[in-house]
Amino acid sequence: MDGDAIGLRVHARVNPAAVAHNLGVLRARLGPAPTARIWATVKADAYGHGLHRVLPGLAGADGLAVSQLADAYASRAAGWNGPILVLGGLLDAVEAQGLALPDLHLTVAHPAQLDWLRDTPAGGAPPSIWLRYMGDIGYTGFDDACYRDAYERCSMLARQGRIAGIGHLNHYGRAEQPDGIAQADARFQALIRGLPGPRSCGNSAALLRHPDAARTADWVRPGIALYGVSPLPAVDGPDLGLRPAMSLHSRIVAIRDVAAGERLGYNGTIVAAAPMRVGMVACGYGDGYLRHAPAGTPMLVNGHAAATLGAVTMDLIPVDLTGLPPVPIGAPVVLWGTPGLPVEQVARHMGTIAAELLTSLTPRVPVIPVPAAETDGPGPRPGRSASPPGTPRR
Ligand SMILES: *Cc1c(COP(=O)(O)O)cnc(C)c1O
Repeated sequence: MDGDAIGLRVHARVNPAAVAHNLGVLRARLGPAPTARIWATVKADAYGHGLHRVLPGLAGADGLAVSQLADAYASRAAGWNGPILVLGGLLDAVEAQGLALPDLHLTVAHPAQLDWLRDTPAGGAPPSIWLRYMGDIGYTGFDDACYRDAYERCSMLARQGRIAGIGHLNHYGRAEQPDGIAQADARFQALIRGLPGPRSCGNSAALLRHPDAARTADWVRPGIALYGVSPLPAVDGPDLGLRPAMSLHSRIVAIRDVAAGERLGYNGTIVAAAPMRVGMVACGYGDGYLRHAPAGTPMLVNGHAAATLGAVTMDLIPVDLTGLPPVPIGAPVVLWGTPGLPVEQVARHMGTIAAELLTSLTPRVPVIPVPAAETDGPGPRPGRSASPPGTPRR
């Protein structure tokens, strides 16, 4: 199948044109003349895709949202010149001292982060800050009792020239539910009533499930859907018009016929109930395929639906080839991430979510960029990808 995959066992393929397409789908959720801007969330190295690989597909985003300050510097180095939001904010006082990144936005989630900003020298290129509301997730941020005091402190820092602007940030805990954001929004809007500053709410699930509410925000922050993955339960990305941006491939490296009653695998975990044909796929937990993937986890062998037998080892996954049309040694295997086998489906079988699979690949898995010629597919062309990487739409 892949001329460029000759000599590789397992490998991933990443397609920035799919990311550009998905960004267009999300932008369209914001209405015909959207006012909300998009922080493209690229934490965990763009959800495991590699920021530098997907950046060409994010040219139409208004900003990048990263996990930590070091990622902001890395994003600039990778060619992103637009705004960058650091979701985790400052980690310590030292980080606050050397801030020298234009168009830097920092989340502030606790009072110590304000102390560190207070102790920075005024002047230079001060960051904008986004006050984080505790919201219904409850992991981090200012709660109802503390938020307005924190805002007052920010206003002081702004008057001193230590910060460039103040925004309000909330993150939903259950936006994938039909009733998932109404209460959270009501509380947040009541809390910030009368306080100036832009408002940022809305992950992928909010944009896809509650677009009318999402488009009232000044900035939204989709992540997982940019990569073609559905955040909604029992719905896969392709059903939403999204295109998978990463797929995991391997090949069959051994085949054998097993008699009824024979045992396979460490400690004989697999027992052949009947005569069967077993293939070995050159991929394992050493590549980031989850070891606990149970028997029955789907994969595509030579384009045919097949199921694993469980008992994943470091380098190999046994797959049931019984009843399939003859499969040669070397036959291509799709482990997940194509329209025919969305990563969501595989994740469901493994009892986890797609984001875990995307971010689990280990460094030994080579990544092959999908050539532009192969990215043509059904659906609207990614109109915004014409501008060079790093050009924000302001
Ligand atoms: C991860 C994250 C997002 C994006 O969420 P998705 O579900 O991937 O769309 C947005 N905001 C914050 C604060 C996040 O941590």
